[in-house]
Amino acid sequence: MGNINQPTITSSGILRPTYVEVNLDQLTANLRAIQAQVAPAKVMVILKANAYGHGLVAVAQHMVRVGADYLGVAFLEEGILLREAGITAPILVLGGILGNQVPQFLAHDLTLTASSVEKLQQIDAAARSTGRDARIHLKIDTGMERIGVHYYSASPLLEAALRCEHCQVEGIYSHFANSDAADSTYARLQLARFNQVLDFYQQRGLPPPMRHMANSGAILQLPESYFDMVRAGILLYGIYPSGETARTVAVRPGLAWKSQVVYFKVVQPGHPVSYGSTWQSDRMTRVVTIPAGYGDGYFRSLSNKAEVLIRGRRYPVIGRVCMDQLMVNIGWETAYNGDEVVLLGQSGDEQITCEALANWAGTIPYEVLTNINTRVPRVYLGGAGTA
Ligand SMILES: *Cc1c(COP(=O)(O)O)cnc(C)c1O
Repeated sequence: MGNINQPTITSSGILRPTYVEVNLDQLTANLRAIQAQVAPAKVMVILKANAYGHGLVAVAQHMVRVGADYLGVAFLEEGILLREAGITAPILVLGGILGNQVPQFLAHDLTLTASSVEKLQQIDAAARSTGRDARIHLKIDTGMERIGVHYYSASPLLEAALRCEHCQVEGIYSHFANSDAADSTYARLQLARFNQVLDFYQQRGLPPPMRHMANSGAILQLPESYFDMVRAGILLYGIYPSGETARTVAVRPGLAWKSQVVYFKVVQPGHPVSYGSTWQSDRMTRVVTIPAGYGDGYFRSLSNKAEVLIRGRRYPVIGRVCMDQLMVNIGWETAYNGDEVVLLGQSGDEQITCEALANWAGTIPYEVLTNINTRVPRVYLGGAGTA
């Protein structure tokens, strides 16, 4: 396997007929809409999980070009890939860290999340021995129980951070568990707990480090949580975090997943289609085969549930989705080898949304996007240098 961000293009430059198309200009428009909503707060652009399936390096380079203030990834390795691609913007690694990773963070100038006194001491010690100061953000757990020091026992971490000699404490943050829910009770409780922790600085007459808490749900529903910066993930990619979240910022999806008809046939009644023989027709019908499957991240649970678009019309996926192929019933309508097939996105007046795919598959839009794997090449439209 090569660089995880490289599209699957053969040495002769041939692209697979199944690909993801990313409209960079739409991502810019989404960023601008978020910036307008949260200003003067800054926006951290969240790029974890291959930029929610959109392609880590390409999206990062574009976002930096159009003025992203800060980048956020989940893992050290994602941060290193960005540095190796020449990106010099500040990058916060949001996930938990292991002591032996700290020198790598420092070598690549990645901002660390310090989520306990012990982790802070490991960071300080590694920074002392490598002679490079660490840039850190303190992580407060206000009700997620994932990583971070509990809000009710945060003071020792904040104290230790003040005494830390080889760390620059640049930020302090927390994370919402339920900010996309219609009922904001729990989000408001978490926000109150974070504010309580921040009183530490006021009581000492100290300016707090950069404070951030809001993810997409809170950007949409909880302006009180914007602080100095927000962390925009799914909203930047034009998807609302849940069906019940208020849509106070207008964004549109920037990703489409397309393929082509690779085979056409007429299927007789009583002749089942695909593994397990789970679907058959009671009349003669036309069936086309598409070269995409669960091995690309098109969930097997979409079998006999999803629809695709061909020539602006909706058709059902029939039988089991295979690893590399799936079949579609076009009834007695027309399709030819080479016709475009839209798995996710728009064709004519019809659209397959990320939410629809998620509902059919029994999951959430986040998983639909991040599941489109790296076997599927990413093709970029718009952005700098193109008309
Ligand atoms: C993923 C993540 C985000 C972004 O979440 P969205 O719901 O996609 O906006 C923000 N902060 C942290 C810590 C995250 O892990």
